Amino acid sequence: MKVVLASGNQKKIRELTEILAPLSMEVVPQSAFDVEEAEETGLTFVENAIIKARNAARATGLPALADDSGIEVDALNGQPGIYSARFSGADATDARNNALLIEKLAGVADTDRGARYRAVIVFMRHADDPMPVIAEGTWEGRIIDTPLGEGGFGYDPHFFVPALGKTAAQLSAEQKHAISHRGMALRALLEKLGATT
Ligand code: IMP
Repeated sequence: MKVVLASGNQKKIRELTEILAPLSMEVVPQSAFDVEEAEETGLTFVENAIIKARNAARATGLPALADDSGIEVDALNGQPGIYSARFSGADATDARNNALLIEKLAGVADTDRGARYRAVIVFMRHADDPMPVIAEGTWEGRIIDTPLGEGGFGYDPHFFVPALGKTAAQLSAEQKHAISHRGMALRALLEKLGATT
């Protein structure tokens, strides 16, 4: 089966294609079809994932897979959440987002720095699919001030996983996929689709 991947985030595309590699599913990023990125106007991860999948399916005529994800920080009442990619504004970068996050957590004790990544992955058979297949995953951690590690992307250098004593950026790609929100969501989705690795 050929499926279009509705994301413009290169690092996310790489993670998703790595996790899907063992499957007999040909996953093609939407950039290969010059699909224009959809505006994420939803107020939930689910809505935004559907908006992106529908946009890619409509533009290509192919089934589409989309991930909408973000980080929820307890001390910030769950922010930045669905706005994680745009946390520091229209010209946001990972570095600016991380700097803002650390600034907002100044003075917050280690014990109050709980956070979780969330990912929602949606599969739509076609643009008008009335029943998208939806799966989710979460990953618990804590925000630390000093960035550690070179792997991953986004908030990973500041996302400390107590169970491992490492940040997400200090994990190998395989280690991250095995326990991450995205890995969990994708495995749940594949199970719903009856796909086997
Ligand atoms: P989206 O493309 O609108 O789904 O934005 C997702 C944003 O959430 C990314 O740009 C990152 O800022 C953050 N994010 C999601 N998943 C991860 C992850 O695995 N590591 C680090 N940051 C992530």
